[in-house]
Amino acid sequence: MSAARTALMAGAGAALVHAGPAVAAVGPVRRRLMPGLAGIGDRGHVALTFDDGPHPQATTELLRRLDRAGVRATFFLLGRMVEKHPEVARAIADGGHEVGVHGYEHSLLVKRGPRATRDDLDRATQTIVAVTGAQPRWWRPPYGVASTAALVEARRLRLRPVLWTCWGRDWTDTCTADSIYRSVMRRLSGGGTILLHDSDYAAAENCWLSMLAALPAILTTCTARGLRVGPLAEHGIPA
Ligand SMILES: [Zn+2]
Repeated sequence: MSAARTALMAGAGAALVHAGPAVAAVGPVRRRLMPGLAGIGDRGHVALTFDDGPHPQATTELLRRLDRAGVRATFFLLGRMVEKHPEVARAIADGGHEVGVHGYEHSLLVKRGPRATRDDLDRATQTIVAVTGAQPRWWRPPYGVASTAALVEARRLRLRPVLWTCWGRDWTDTCTADSIYRSVMRRLSGGGTILLHDSDYAAAENCWLSMLAALPAILTTCTARGLRVGPLAEHGIPA
């Protein structure tokens, strides 16, 4: 089993215990051994990523705010949500943001069979391409946990797996703008990838309101530290 596969498959047990949408934190060892998988890129740049959308209210408001701030990001989309809200998915791509694949359903892949896993990734990718007209380059498995079948299929689809180096823990019903900001800042450094959620699809209802409230301070701190913020496409992750 490759190191990357081990990393992506780690945490499955934890996922069954915790209800949160992201359980496989990228630890120091993993960051050092697999910087590309962890989303580590250019030291002067921070990648801003959002999972679980598109969401009609959350994504639309987020796009408005990112546009005002002059910041672009990477959105890991769910095929089911793209089908439900195609106009929002198109607005992401039309706004100059990058789209990535999260899955069709938001399922823990190690709990699904190889065929269901392949179908999920294929359907998600086809839906995203058909609706947005963009060709995704990145794939982030739900909960940060993949399976062998998923990794093989992602490779066939030319999707590169990427996780994150810091998160806002913005999926709980107790998160606040301040808790999200502090959670991101705890591990944020140049070259890192931030995980946030522009949806409550797999999270506490309306938790994205706290994410939106936290965003200005996160962007301001990055700028104050001399870090550029943008999508994974501009993150300079080594091939
Ligand atoms: Zn997710």
